[in-house]
Amino acid sequence: MNKKTIKDVDVAGKRVLVRVDFNTPQDDSGAITDDRRIVAALPTLRYLLEQGAAVIVMSHLGRPKGEVAPKYSLTPIAARLKELIGGNVVLTSAIDGDPLGIEEAKAATAPGKVVVLENTRYTDAEEANDSTLSAKLAELGDVYVNDAFGAAHRAHASTAGVAEVMKSQGKPAVAGFLLQKEIDFLGNAIRNPERPFVAILGGAKIKDKIPVIEKLLPNVDSLLIGGGMAYTFYKAAGHEIGKSLLDSDSLEFCKSLLCDDKIVLPTDCVVAPDFDNNAPRTTVKTTAIPTDQEGLDIGPDTIAAFSEIIKSAKTVVWNGPMGVFEMSNFAAGTNGIAEAMAEATKKGATTIVGGGDSAAAVEQLGYADQMSHISTGGGASLEFLEGKPLPGVIALDDK
Ligand code: ADP
Ligand code: MG
Repeated sequence: MNKKTIKDVDVAGKRVLVRVDFNTPQDDSGAITDDRRIVAALPTLRYLLEQGAAVIVMSHLGRPKGEVAPKYSLTPIAARLKELIGGNVVLTSAIDGDPLGIEEAKAATAPGKVVVLENTRYTDAEEANDSTLSAKLAELGDVYVNDAFGAAHRAHASTAGVAEVMKSQGKPAVAGFLLQKEIDFLGNAIRNPERPFVAILGGAKIKDKIPVIEKLLPNVDSLLIGGGMAYTFYKAAGHEIGKSLLDSDSLEFCKSLLCDDKIVLPTDCVVAPDFDNNAPRTTVKTTAIPTDQEGLDIGPDTIAAFSEIIKSAKTVVWNGPMGVFEMSNFAAGTNGIAEAMAEATKKGATTIVGGGDSAAAVEQLGYADQMSHISTGGGASLEFLEGKPLPGVIALDDK
């Protein structure tokens, strides 16, 4: 990576302001259901504490829309962080005129201690990248560290604004270990992939992913398309797709790609009359989808064909589930691809999973430790693969 990291600066005894992505899923009672994002930031936080830094942590959580709302408090996150780090962790309180508790943080900062600011989205100034908020945050630290890959594609006060202010004050702004790892894995994969380089795209957000197809296609050896994305291609080829997902705005684009021999489409799919795990399933050719049915997974021939390509690859990037994996009867395609990727990893390939739902699927199906890298950034990993510059990364000091 061409950006400085925490290893390139002296943090001993310094106040280090760290942007992390603790936007963690919670259940209705507020309990954390998946703490991977907190765990992923631990190497950076532990390193800073070991170096004798005073750590101030900031993150957004959910969408409180600029209001102080207890539902979006970082209280359960700070508690979990305290358990994981086993040390001195305190959370500031939101007060009138200071929703992030910045003044309290100033007074509480001490070496060996972690002060967690309240939800950065308790004020609209965060997403507006407001310069007053950026300046106030900048007063908290001698060094800025961005370790929030999941938020790096947004130019907000806590990601880009504060880094710019601190740099203008001669303070370092550097990457944490997680941000560095994300950029190294994704960056190497798209810049100098070991070949064959295979990309797999699926999921439901076709419009978001079209720019990724355009960016990846010239670079990959094969592009496998599954999930809800595939049906717009069949429609473009003139086939019946029944009640399957369709993005009419993308028909022309899909048509233009039909002759590209790097693109591999499913040849069979699993259909059902309703979007329901218990609906009767049938496997059909993708050229013979009944009008009253909906394609919900790739079929066994496709799993076999995709798996063969994946297993002979040296670099694999996967974004988007192959079917509606949340329903167990339509998870076979996603499971099959995860299994093929795990085998590729074993054979020495670099395997990368990006995308929020894809990462959740790999975790749920039990393959998480068999991938080279699972990105913590859904939107950010897509924008990175599209080749878009990430504002939270650009703002950091060059090496
Ligand atoms: P990611 O978060 O990994 O980028 P997306 O958000 O684009 O992926 O899509 C994930 C969703 O796509 C999942 O909830 C999954 O159920 C859905 N999906 C996959 N295949 C289909 C399909 N054939 N029809 C409808 N939805 C699908
Ligand atoms: Mg998603």
